[in-house]
Amino acid sequence: MFITTVQILKEKLKEKNIFLSDEETLDIEKVTSKYPMRINEYYLSLIKEKGDSIWNQCIPKIEEITSEFGKEDPLNEENGIPFLTHRYPDRCLLLVSNSCAMYCRFCTRKRKVGEITKNPTRNGIKKALKYIEEHQEIRDVILSGGDPLLLSLETLENILIDLRKIKHIEMIRIGTRIPCTMPERVTTKLCEMLKKYNKNPILYINTHFEHPTEITAKSKEACEKLIDAGISLGNQSVILKGVNSSPEIFKELNRKLLSIGVKPYYLYQPDLVKGTAHFSGPVKEGIKIIKGLRGFTSGMAVPHFVIDTPGGGGKIPLIPKYATIQKDGSVKIKNYEEKNFEYRLN
Ligand SMILES: *Cc1c(COP(=O)(O)O)cnc(C)c1O
Ligand code: SF4
Repeated sequence: MFITTVQILKEKLKEKNIFLSDEETLDIEKVTSKYPMRINEYYLSLIKEKGDSIWNQCIPKIEEITSEFGKEDPLNEENGIPFLTHRYPDRCLLLVSNSCAMYCRFCTRKRKVGEITKNPTRNGIKKALKYIEEHQEIRDVILSGGDPLLLSLETLENILIDLRKIKHIEMIRIGTRIPCTMPERVTTKLCEMLKKYNKNPILYINTHFEHPTEITAKSKEACEKLIDAGISLGNQSVILKGVNSSPEIFKELNRKLLSIGVKPYYLYQPDLVKGTAHFSGPVKEGIKIIKGLRGFTSGMAVPHFVIDTPGGGGKIPLIPKYATIQKDGSVKIKNYEEKNFEYRLN
């Protein structure tokens, strides 16, 4: 089902009339001995040519192992209870899975996704749940991974059942790339299960699309099925060099997302993760993307542009400079067309 070796990748690409050179083959082999590769037939089918936005997300590049820049765990997520990160007062991250339908080459958790030895254990998750139970201030739990929707239906359902026993939880969010990378996994069975647990606490799903070509009839259908199960959908994207770093691409992506019922939520500056430096561009590009969206298209298509602080300070929003507050309390403001206005009370 999954393409994990360069030999099989080579065969599959040949069917698409794409050929790997000996050097490329060797490079992929070298990288995968450190960071696993996993691609599925659906995601591979989205590749049109070498080096396109889909290719760059899923095909290993030698830069992953030749650059020493960055850290294995730049957000300092591994700092206490295994599989749980409690950084903000009222919410926490619960890492329930270590596998994904495709291993994104730019993944923040590159240090562990696909590493079977680092899989969350049943016992580990039980302990994390106990922590949540003992911390009444936690009202929002985010299931992440890896990909929670790659767990067996039974395992996922059991986690939801256990979480729902904790009375102070008001909402559960699932972070998943499945609607984008493996939409056929959003089965009627999965949706029927989720529908049983979509209220009290409420359930949200945040998915992860990176490029307009990922919005296909199949990914649209997957999102519609989740919406029919009564779940609101959001999206998180990372700005990635060679994939999507332009205002035009994000305008198209975010419009298309809204048209299939997915609200753009976060736009991330890449985390400083070892093995992913070749994806990072300057922060000002993110500001330019937000400027290119605000005013020019539906406000609902404008996500929050954030840096997840290196060292674990949490997400900090970066906003284009639209306003200057004057000494007398009035505000000088600039609109999306760079026209100047003033707001004053007297
Ligand atoms: C992103 C994140 C959250 C959720 O943040 P929101 O801004 O509420 O979406 C919670 N905990 C951790 C550790 C996170 O990284
Ligand atoms: S789906 Fe998410 S967790 Fe999995 S490899 Fe991609 S970015 Fe990482």
